[in-house]
Amino acid sequence: MNTRSISFRLVTWYAGLLAGIFVLLCAVLYLDLRHFLVNDLRQSQSRRTRQIANTLLVHVKQTGEATVASQTKDWYEPEVNDRFIRITRADGTLVYVSGTPKDGSFDPAEIPVFPPSSETEFSRQLKLSGGSTLLIAALNFKSSGNPDYLVEFGSLLDPVETMLNHLFLQLALGLPLAVIIITVGGYLLVRRALTPVEQITRAAERITQFNLSERLPVANTGDELERLSLSLNRMITRLDDAFQNSKRFVADASHDLRTPLTILRGELESFAADARLDAELRDRAGSMLEEVVHLGKIVEQLFTLSRLDAGEAQTEWTRFDLTELAKTTVEQMSLLAEDKGISIACDASEPAPVKGNRVRLKQVVVNLLDNAIKYTPTKGAIHLRVLAVNGHAVLEVADNGIGIPPDALPHIFERFYRVDQARSAESESAGLGLSIVKSICTAHGAEVDAQSTVGTGSCFRVRLPLNKN
Ligand code: ADP
Repeated sequence: MNTRSISFRLVTWYAGLLAGIFVLLCAVLYLDLRHFLVNDLRQSQSRRTRQIANTLLVHVKQTGEATVASQTKDWYEPEVNDRFIRITRADGTLVYVSGTPKDGSFDPAEIPVFPPSSETEFSRQLKLSGGSTLLIAALNFKSSGNPDYLVEFGSLLDPVETMLNHLFLQLALGLPLAVIIITVGGYLLVRRALTPVEQITRAAERITQFNLSERLPVANTGDELERLSLSLNRMITRLDDAFQNSKRFVADASHDLRTPLTILRGELESFAADARLDAELRDRAGSMLEEVVHLGKIVEQLFTLSRLDAGEAQTEWTRFDLTELAKTTVEQMSLLAEDKGISIACDASEPAPVKGNRVRLKQVVVNLLDNAIKYTPTKGAIHLRVLAVNGHAVLEVADNGIGIPPDALPHIFERFYRVDQARSAESESAGLGLSIVKSICTAHGAEVDAQSTVGTGSCFRVRLPLNKN
């Protein structure tokens, strides 16, 4: 899973935020409910203490304390209802205390007397030895003409605690479940919303200089993604126009330069060969001729590139054997190599059927061999191999020439790039040979790469899909 993807980050934030809000809400709900229930119980107990005071103690002078005690027991039945009731005089002596409740949850005799308080009504919570909590509300009864009494009314907090624990358990289980469901749902929604982005990315990956007329898919959703794909499509249109203009310019310029250069070349050739002219003039015509020939080569290469840019290599495809093509090319070029005292070994025996533009693929072999010859000193050796490996035809041209420095290696396939002017000037190069190779390979879905060590040699490798049927 890509942790830096928009969907992952969006869902993580959203799930984290939701979980935080849920935990906060549940905590507020739990604490609020607890406060409400305990308060409610306390108020109902306070009411009871007031009832005892206002209905029984207020008449204690007439009825006597024993009647108050027995009536309290009859009315409230504290033992049956698991309640605690105690009435004490101001000096702390007992008037009445309820008995042990039926469930035996506490022993009233063990409950300490309230410390004296100046307040009329107050309450406290008492932790019992069995773990339960007793909530006791108390009332200081003062009435003119009657003695003072302290009335206490208590009941266990256990039912409230049980209910709160149950709620806590439900929240603790339900909350993660809710967060998981919401997260998965959110993830699916985000993925769905981002599907057009995936489609746009895939389509954008497919667009190269050869199919700049293609456009990205536009989903008619009226949202930001529709606007984005429309904007990108307008940008591709502008790029396409600029690219077409520059291609047209190079094509027109190189085409229009060919004829005057041919004429110039012819004129200079006749000057250089004209015996009527003096020797110095002929020499100068000869060196001018060299420059014109060099210029002619560059114009030819530019013209080739412009035709390749126009998709020429993608036409006139035939099925042929790369091994056989390589062998004939080696034969044709061995004369050039021999002139420099360089040997070419050809290791191509197994057939390697491929499909493509034969003329242009031959140019790949020619350019690689030509470079190997150019950049290998006299008595050097060139080794050409053709193999069929893993569904690919591999063409390798290796030499033991001057090599290419590591910092130059990534740039050698760029147009007009020459490793260093000094060594290329001798060989009248323009830095276009390998860009032509690259362009032809790209048009054939082939890969080309180079490995080289300065002073040891270079090896160029072309990988072309095999065509077996
Ligand atoms: P050029 O026409 O100048 O040879 P290329 O595009 O064919 O241009 O090659 C680019 C550069 O890569 C050249 O300037 C050259 O220095 C270097 N190069 C290409 N092939 C070889 C080779 N076999 N050995 C050493 N250097 C090479």
